[in-house]
Formats: sequence, structure tokens, C-alpha cells
Amino acid sequence: MAEGGTGRPPVEAVNFPIWQPCNMRCGFCFARFKDVREEVLPAGHLTASEALRVVGLLADAGFRKITFAGGEPFLCPWLGDLLRAAHHAGMTTAVVTNGSLVRVTDTLAAVLDWLVVSIDSLSPQVLTALGRTTAGRPLSEDTYRSLCEDVHRAGIRLKINTVVTRANRHEDLAAFVVATEPRRWKILQMLPIAGQNGGPGNALSVTDDEFRQFVRRHSWVARYGIDVVPENNDAMTGSYAMLDPAGRFFDNVRGSYTYSASILRCGVPAALRQITLDRSKYLARGGQYDWSAPLPVLARGATD
Ligand code: SF4
Repeated sequence: MAEGGTGRPPVEAVNFPIWQPCNMRCGFCFARFKDVREEVLPAGHLTASEALRVVGLLADAGFRKITFAGGEPFLCPWLGDLLRAAHHAGMTTAVVTNGSLVRVTDTLAAVLDWLVVSIDSLSPQVLTALGRTTAGRPLSEDTYRSLCEDVHRAGIRLKINTVVTRANRHEDLAAFVVATEPRRWKILQMLPIAGQNGGPGNALSVTDDEFRQFVRRHSWVARYGIDVVPENNDAMTGSYAMLDPAGRFFDNVRGSYTYSASILRCGVPAALRQITLDRSKYLARGGQYDWSAPLPVLARGATD
């Protein structure tokens, strides 16, 4: 659904999961894209040149911020090329990662505005129960902390994503979040999606009330200048511009994914007309914010 008359997309931010494979197996994952792999993209990803064309089409269409995701995007050998292309096209760049493969280098910092680290728990038992492990081992609290410090040191904006599930709903992450100073902390209610994580029958899902309790318990974190952004299932539905690894927009408004044709075949406006995307919900969930604002001196200096 393109914005009436202007030809521009209805929202300014877009998510592009570039790489279906992942080195973790989170039980709540709503980005498995096994369906995409089985039906249209056996490799689980486009070629580097196709992915670069996708980035170019998104920039030309008027998207101002692009978030590369997966699977695990740091498995993709051409992630750096995609970041460079988006950066040179004037887009704000972000990468969502499980944190297991990131090396924060000057080369990365030159083209990356935001690193979004998924941190659901600091308990090895909970992380293991969630499947948030590589070769059976979860990342340690020290590893997460040191990654956050590297991100600050490199002058990259830090965001933390936490998915609230049955396994971590009683955990208290506030002290860790305050200490690691993300610019934004997104707290997401586990979203059941048929065809991805089993839908509403998934035993890790939490009720609205359990989610609210988690958010309430952590709300004081905002006093430290951290933008705390809770998103329940309703806020996450129909409010994101999302591509799949094949370059197709998709929406989640029916409890499973509905895909457009690939933007490589029909272009961005025609593909957007084939899915549901609600700008008012995008605005209501805080999707539009000052994502290129300079880093506060405190966050930069904290780990120098
Ligand atoms: S790390 Fe992310 S993409 Fe990989 S399984 Fe977990 S939630 Fe899914």
C-alpha cells in the first residue's frame, strides 16, 4: 500500500532480512523463513548483486532507514557491501544481530549507524531453554557487556532488543540495561506466527498481562535517558515495512505471512500495494524517531 499520490512508501524505515540461515535456534523466532527457502529461495539468500539491487530500489523509493536482519546477518559475506551501498545512498543503517559473530571494526563503524543486539536473558539456563545458543552454548553476560562496550567505543549507536517469553518473563534485566547504556531498548512480546514459530500454540508465548508486568518492572530504566520502547502483539502487527530474504514485502496481519511479488520483478510501489502496512500504527509504536541524532556525550565517554 503506497502513500496516496506521492509514490513514496507510507513509512520511512524498512527491514531487510538478507540471510535466512542462522547459527541459533530460538524457539520463538518469527524470522525462520523456512517457507521462503522451500518455496522460492533454496539458498536462503539472494546473490550479492541481487541484494545490492534491492538496497538501491529501496533507497530510490524513498526509504530513509534500513535495518539488515536475518537469520544472522553477520553470516553473510557481503553484509559490508550492502551497508556501504545503503550508507552512500544516504540511508541510516542498522543491523540486528544475535551477537555471536560481531567484530566491531573501524570499517564497520564507517557505514553502520546502529547495532541492534538481541539480548533476552543473562541466565545461561534461560538462554539454553530458548535455543539462543551456538553449538549448545549461550553467550555469557560478560560477552554481551563487552560487545556493548565495543559498540560505544566505535561511536555506533546501540540498541538492545528483548523478546519476552514464558522463559524470561520473571527476569530483571534493568541493571544490565542501565549499565550498558543502549540508546533504545525495545521490549517485544513474543509474536506467534503460524509457519514461523508454530503460531498461538507455541509454549513460549506470554499473555498481554505477563508482558505488561515485564514492561512495568523495567520502566524505571527510562530515567537514565534510555528510550524504552515496548511493543505488544498488536503494536507489532501491520506496522513494519518488511522484506523477506527473497526481496518480497510481507505483512503479518493474518497471523501468518502474506508475501508480495519480489521488488526485483515489480518494483517497490507495486509490491507495497500487495501487502498491508498501516502508517498510523507505525507512528503509534514509535517507528519514526530521530535515528540520526548525534550520540550523547555520556554514552560515548562511558567506556572510553
Ligand atoms: S538468533 Fe534471531 S534469527 Fe536466529 S533463530 Fe534466534 S531469533 Fe531467529
